[in-house]
Amino acid sequence: MATVLDFLKTLPKAELHVHLEGSFTPDVPDAELAAKWDCCDFSSFLESFKWTVSFLKKPEDYGRAAKQLISSLRRQGVTYAEITLSAGVVRWKKLDLEEVYAAVNHESRRATFPVYWIVDCIRQHGGGGAMPVAKFAARHANNGIVGFGIGGDETSTPAEEFRGAVAAAGVPFVPHAGEVSNAENIWEMVRLGARRIGHGIRAVHDPALCAYLKEHDIPLEISLTSNVRTGAVPSLQAHPLRQLFDAGVPIVLGTDDPAIFGTTLIDEYLLAAELGFSRAELEQLAENSLRYGFQRAK
Ligand SMILES: [Zn+2]
Repeated sequence: MATVLDFLKTLPKAELHVHLEGSFTPDVPDAELAAKWDCCDFSSFLESFKWTVSFLKKPEDYGRAAKQLISSLRRQGVTYAEITLSAGVVRWKKLDLEEVYAAVNHESRRATFPVYWIVDCIRQHGGGGAMPVAKFAARHANNGIVGFGIGGDETSTPAEEFRGAVAAAGVPFVPHAGEVSNAENIWEMVRLGARRIGHGIRAVHDPALCAYLKEHDIPLEISLTSNVRTGAVPSLQAHPLRQLFDAGVPIVLGTDDPAIFGTTLIDEYLLAAELGFSRAELEQLAENSLRYGFQRAK
């Protein structure tokens, strides 16, 4: 019988929750990386993310990061990917979003498997900051962008502020929610029409929400290592993955920020195995990942 690792490498699977910026390793000494990426709670993680992004200075840097991530995904047997580009951060850095997107889209078009983009805005920047990102998504809806997201501090701005941007984007809405706060945070995004939820693990405290996600076929994109490293859960063993899965909530595994958290998509499946997921259940998770891709959805 093949080892779990061999089984996972050959298992067709999609990566639907990975941030380009968090997959990139700056060219600095290992000791500096270890110190800068030693995050232990959500605010220190945001600092780690900002530090990493500071090395992406030009569109070519983004292009190189995309190329590296796509080849890493290919080596892991990923057959479909949607990568999140923090368009809100690109704009905040006063870089030209069109140029940055052209650089990364150039790399995804050359990939040997389908690779698409989700552009996300920063929740702290409110509805006003979200609108230009939403319009950008709408303009490139037939040019590789398949989703509009919201990242950052989920407690910072009321969800309703983003209603106009979600409508303007006109592509599937895939916000982060319920990662560190509560189930209501997820309900708010569901009311705005979210098609998938980034993290969403606080749903475990709300059986009615779990039933709703199941009934309406809205998956949670779960990143085990990320949730442990940001302190969203106290330990791997305390993670609600099993409870959510057993409640029938559709689940897709993702890495979130593989460089910062020191993980890979295969590692995430191995952690699910550590939590008692059988090979059949791991296969189910992989099937889900392919099924919920926006270009794969039936
Ligand atoms: Zn994320």
